[in-house]
Amino acid sequence: MRLENRIALITGAGRGIGRAIAEQYGREGARVAVADLTPDSAQEVADVIEAAGGCALPLVMDVTDERAVDDGVAEIVRQWGGLDIALANAGVQHIEPVHKLSLENWRKVVSVHLDGAFLVTRAALAQMYAGGGGSMLYMGSVHSLEASPLKSPYVAAKHGMLGLCRAVAKEGAEHGVRSNIICPGFVRTPLVDKQIPEQARELGISEDAVIRDVMLKNTIDGAFTTVEDIAELAVHLAAFPSLALSGQSVVVSHGWHMQ
Ligand code: NAD
Repeated sequence: MRLENRIALITGAGRGIGRAIAEQYGREGARVAVADLTPDSAQEVADVIEAAGGCALPLVMDVTDERAVDDGVAEIVRQWGGLDIALANAGVQHIEPVHKLSLENWRKVVSVHLDGAFLVTRAALAQMYAGGGGSMLYMGSVHSLEASPLKSPYVAAKHGMLGLCRAVAKEGAEHGVRSNIICPGFVRTPLVDKQIPEQARELGISEDAVIRDVMLKNTIDGAFTTVEDIAELAVHLAAFPSLALSGQSVVVSHGWHMQ
């Protein structure tokens, strides 16, 4: 097992990519704090991890709520004594051209990704610095590195998370903290399923055309990335043994984006 006895926090872990990573971390021997907006989803994932022989702690945590993030991290430390791995994964999407976008919708997307990543980072680093090191992880996107139309707040926020990841790599090194960002291409989760009809409507094309000509057009093989692909990379990055791998963006996108 690659994460034996490590203590991990994953935000937005009640479904989708975060859930798959939480379950994989559990199988790899980590104690996993499963944080999400609703108690039901966090509890369900924690139950699945424990039923498979792992150790999990469900947490209700809105990552835009400073108190909720600080209290959640304090609860992990109270129960398990520290924090080794923190993954800022919670995310939302909003499909609309920038000239029609309300300030409210801009702020909603930017706040979940960027305020959320900051608050999780600040709370986690306090524990990691005290404990002599750790691994900060961010769920970026190919949209941390390039843009698509109709997603301006998401693209801006994901670029911002790349900057935060790099800043944390520079500051964290002297405390033994590594910081890396995972940049997936399209993965079939509720976040993507919701935007297929929305993009079809905005672009005036069919849903099949959104998948084929928008989402997968520039991949090398016309395939979606899977939650299992992302979970495997998230284990690898968390388990990496030295500061040699820090400040990096790792793209998993079937070749949609090549760095
Ligand atoms: P998803 O919608 O399936 O899951 C997102 C989770 O985040 C949900 O459980 C939701 O409740 C939670 N969440 C939303 N707002 C929150 C908040 N304020 N506080 C705490 N939790 C909150 O989406 P997903 O596809 O699994 O996305 C997970 C991450 O991966 C996101 O950051 C997303 O931007 C990123 N990502 C997804 C894809 C993709 O194609 N699915 C590609 C690249 C990056």
